[in-house]
Amino acid sequence: KELPADPIKENVRRQVKESCFSYVKPKKPGNPFLLHTSPEMIGALGLSDADSSSKDFLEVFTGSQILPKTNPYAMCYGGHQFGNWAGQLGDGRAINLAEIEHDDKRWALQLKGAGETPYSRSADGLAVLRSSIREYLCSEAMHHLGVPTTRALSLALSGDQVLRDVMYDGNPAYEKGAIVTRVAPSFLRFGSYEIFSARGDKKTLKTLVDYTIRNHYSHLGKPSKKAYVNFLKEVAIKSLKMVIHWQRVGFVHGVINTDNMSILGLTIDYGPYGWLEGYDHGWTPNTTDRANKRYRYGAQPQIVLWNLFQLANALYPLIEQAEPLETILKEYQEELDAAHLAMMRSKLGLQLENNSDIMLIEVLEKMMQRSETDMTIFFRNLANLEKGAYENWFPVVKKAFYRPEEIRDRIKEEWFDWFKNYAERLSLEKLGDNQRKIEMNKVNPKYVLRNYMAQLAIDEADKGSYGLIEELFVLLKKPYDEQPGKEKWFAKRPEWARHKVGCSM
Ligand code: AMP
Ligand code: MG
Ligand code: MG
Repeated sequence: KELPADPIKENVRRQVKESCFSYVKPKKPGNPFLLHTSPEMIGALGLSDADSSSKDFLEVFTGSQILPKTNPYAMCYGGHQFGNWAGQLGDGRAINLAEIEHDDKRWALQLKGAGETPYSRSADGLAVLRSSIREYLCSEAMHHLGVPTTRALSLALSGDQVLRDVMYDGNPAYEKGAIVTRVAPSFLRFGSYEIFSARGDKKTLKTLVDYTIRNHYSHLGKPSKKAYVNFLKEVAIKSLKMVIHWQRVGFVHGVINTDNMSILGLTIDYGPYGWLEGYDHGWTPNTTDRANKRYRYGAQPQIVLWNLFQLANALYPLIEQAEPLETILKEYQEELDAAHLAMMRSKLGLQLENNSDIMLIEVLEKMMQRSETDMTIFFRNLANLEKGAYENWFPVVKKAFYRPEEIRDRIKEEWFDWFKNYAERLSLEKLGDNQRKIEMNKVNPKYVLRNYMAQLAIDEADKGSYGLIEELFVLLKKPYDEQPGKEKWFAKRPEWARHKVGCSM
């Protein structure tokens, strides 16, 4: 496409019709400063350490320099937000710079927080340091946990001040502006397809679906109704895998609107996310969702299904048959039940399948919820249980209880009964205690980015020191390993952090 003579005019806010994206120019940051880069991502893109410490790198990944022969753009998408169709949303503060091919992989590079676009609606297109640190640390941590996710290349200060409401006192306050460079094979979302379907624009819908299949699902073959059905099927499978991983590690996304659902089944858009501390199916980190708790931990797999239903609706004009779409959604439910059970078995170190497992898991979940039990610590320490000595269960998992003094009388007896059943169940397994522990430690992380940990890094960074970002970044590269000297991060949330953390913009 020909570029407009003055592309800056393209940043004007508007409804964008019959187009999948708009050319935009990033805002020039006042005084950009690189805070951190991801060595893994630098390597994945085929860059060197020298590249990443160059002036060009700083300028390109903060928006002050546009690489020759590239045309940055913002994408048009819509979405269902909290269950309601919201119309056009789009990249309001994300700008795609270019794509890089390296080692047979293709990566789109995107600045988040680099200024307004046609899709900024009433907001400023900027991001603050606190939310940028949260996205930067968490997306890389999720990758190392084995959870499909968008990645992060760099975290920078823009040098500009950004006006935000600070959530807990309601007073407007200036904060440091920041820019994260996000990386993914594609940033297309369910909402990217919904927008054209909602507008009755079948032509652009088909263009985008064909593009997606050609570039990201090419094994599905040439455009056809069959290929479109299979496309939905594959997106459903990928999304299911993603959400099962979330449940396994205790990640709660917080805003699983359809505009935050990647067409590649990647975790995308780290806003008010949080990690389960006390095991609780009803918990959400999103303070704006506390009334309905639509996006609570226990609801995530069903919400993903709801979102797939919206995607199926969006694709329907190209398929014109409801039945194959309904079949896929029905299969999701069946596969979800099986995948969830398999995941919970793995957390308990069970390799065989036994009919009693569902009950064992349900009782455990109820007990954990009732006793305010730290999810990460519980499963990690459960691997230390000797099945012949289950009577000694309490010291093994004591550290996981937020109020250990309450584990007495009837509750203690019920816990004992559960451990007795669990030990009996373990005796059916082939693996001995040591082998089981090795297997369990591969799926039960020791270190996750607890909300208060990110908050400590943010508080330090607000005062101008960035050491904790590096410490947590390194820690979270090996979430399943024992890391001597790092035990302080294998600890329950401190009391001050109980309700305070979790933020979005
Ligand atoms: P989110 O809740 O982060 O998924 O954002 C929903 C929509 O709001 C997306 O279209 C975002 O691009 C847009 N948005 C969020 N924050 C900003 C901002 N500071 N400036 C402009 N658009 C924003
Ligand atoms: Mg979003
Ligand atoms: Mg967001």
